[in-house]
Amino acid sequence: MSEFIYQGCKTQSLIGGKWINAYSGETIDVEDPATEEIITSIPRCGVEEVNEAVRVARLAFESATWSRMRPIDRGRLLETIARKIEDHADELAMLESIDTGKPLAHAKMLDIPSTIEVFRYMGGWCSKMHGETLPVSFDGREYHAYTRRDPVGVVGTITPWNYPLAIGAWKIASALAAGCTVVMKPAELTSLSTLRLAELCLEAGLPEGVLNVVTGYGHEVGKALALHPGVNKIAFTGSTAVGKQIAEYSLGNMKRVTLELGGKSPSVVFEDADLERVGLGAALAVFFNSGQICFAASRLLVQEKVYDKVVEAVAEVAKSFKLGNGRDADTMLGPLVSRKQQERVLGYCASGVEQGAELVTGGKRHGDKGYFVEPTVFASTNPSMKIVQEEIFGPVVSIMPFKDMDDALKLANDSVYGLAANVWTKDINKAHKMAARLEAGSVWINCHGIIDAAAPFGGFKQSGWGREVSAEGLYAYTETKAVCALLD
Ligand code: NAD
Repeated sequence: MSEFIYQGCKTQSLIGGKWINAYSGETIDVEDPATEEIITSIPRCGVEEVNEAVRVARLAFESATWSRMRPIDRGRLLETIARKIEDHADELAMLESIDTGKPLAHAKMLDIPSTIEVFRYMGGWCSKMHGETLPVSFDGREYHAYTRRDPVGVVGTITPWNYPLAIGAWKIASALAAGCTVVMKPAELTSLSTLRLAELCLEAGLPEGVLNVVTGYGHEVGKALALHPGVNKIAFTGSTAVGKQIAEYSLGNMKRVTLELGGKSPSVVFEDADLERVGLGAALAVFFNSGQICFAASRLLVQEKVYDKVVEAVAEVAKSFKLGNGRDADTMLGPLVSRKQQERVLGYCASGVEQGAELVTGGKRHGDKGYFVEPTVFASTNPSMKIVQEEIFGPVVSIMPFKDMDDALKLANDSVYGLAANVWTKDINKAHKMAARLEAGSVWINCHGIIDAAAPFGGFKQSGWGREVSAEGLYAYTETKAVCALLD
C-alpha cells in the first residue's frame, strides 16, 4: 500500500446497520489512479445482497421510528449529518482525492462543502414540505380536499465516479428529507467516500436500515437494484447509454426514475465579452476535474472577430496547468480515473486529428505512471466530427467559430445532449435572449458550473429525466396524493 494514509476506512458494504463482505467472498480492487497502485478492495456484491438490502430498507421504511419521525427531528438529523461531515471534512477530502485522483485542494473547496450544504439545505425542507387545499366543484356538495406529499418509498441510487460523495449526497439528502429509505450503489471505481459517509450517518443517529450501501459492478448490483420489484424509485447519475438501460429495467414495476446523464455543453463567447476573463473561464469550464464533469463545456463557440485571440488564450491556460498527484499542493489537474478512461480519451484525440481538426496543444498521455492526459485544444472543428458530437469525459475542447447569435444558437443546440451551457457577453439583452433559446437545463452567464442545492439541476434531451436538488429535486422523491372528504 502506498500513501494510503486514511485510517479506519470502511471497505465493507452496509446492510441493515451491519458491515458485510460479499456473500461470495469476492472483492474488487481499488486503485490509486495517480500511481496505479492497488490501495485496498471492496466487496463484489450481487443479487443476493441487493435482495437483502431492499428487504431491510422496506422494513425501515415501514417502521414507526422513521416514517413517523417528527419533521423537525428529521431536519435536525440531517443537520447532525451535515455537522459530522464538517467534522470529518479533511479525511473525506483525502479519501476522495486518493480514490478519484482529483486534487485534494479541489475536494476540500468543492466536493466536501457541497456535500455538507445539501444535507443542510434538505434538512430545512423537512418541516416545510406541504400540500395544498383544493377548491373542488364536483357535484356541488361540500368537500374538504387537499394534497399530501408522501415519500415514494425505497429508493435505489446508482452513482458515477467523478463526484462520488457530492452526487451521492444529493440523492440521499433528498431521499431522507422526503422520508424515504435508501439502497446506494456507488461506482465500483470509487466507493470509499460513500461507505464512510454511510458510517457517519449511522454515527449521527440515522436508524439502521434507512441507508444501505451495496458495492459492486453495475451489471450485477446496479442492474439487480433497477430490476428489483421492491424498489419504488431509481435515482441514477451516469452515462446516457446506461441511463437508457436503467429506464428499461425499471419498467417491470413502473419505478419512478430520475436520470442525470451525459452532456456536450457549449461555451458561447461573443465578441463583446470581457476577453480578459474568457481565457481562464472557458478553459476551467472544460478542463476542471480533468474534464470528468457531466456539464464540462467541451464545445467552445467563438464569434469570428475574436476567434484567434480566444483560441490562443485557452491554449495558453491549458499549457499552464500543472498535472500531478492530487495530494501535491500545486497540482491543478489530476489523472483520469482509470486506464480504460485514459485510453478512451486518447482515442478521441486521435480521431480529432484523423478527421482534420487542428491540434493546438495536448493530445498525448502525460508521464509514464498514472492515467494522465494533457489538456487538449482542438481548433477548426465542425459538427461532423466525433470530438464535437460525442461526450469525451476528459480534458479535450473543440473550438468552432460563429457569425452571429442565430449561428451560435444553431451550433450550440446541435447536440443530442442538453445539460448545460454558458454565455460570455457584456450585453445583458443578448445574454438573456440566449438563455431563453439554449436547449439546456442550466445556463450560466459570464460564469460556469454554479452548482447549488437551491438550483434545480438536470438535462434537456438525452441528458436525462427530471431534476435533482432544489424543491423540484426533493419532490421527485415524493408521490402526490389527493385526499377528498365529503363534509355532511
Ligand atoms: P456509467 O454509466 O458507466 O456508470 C454509472 C453507474 O452506473 C456506476 O455506478 C456503474 O456501476 C453503474 N452501471 C453501469 N452499468 C450498469 C447497468 N447495466 N445497470 C445498472 N447500473 C450500471 O458512468 P460513469 O462512467 O461512471 O460516469 C461517467 C458518465 O456519467 C458520463 O456520461 C457523465 O456525463 C455522467 N455523469 C452525469 C452527471 C449528471 O449529473 N448529469 C454527473 C456526473 C456524471
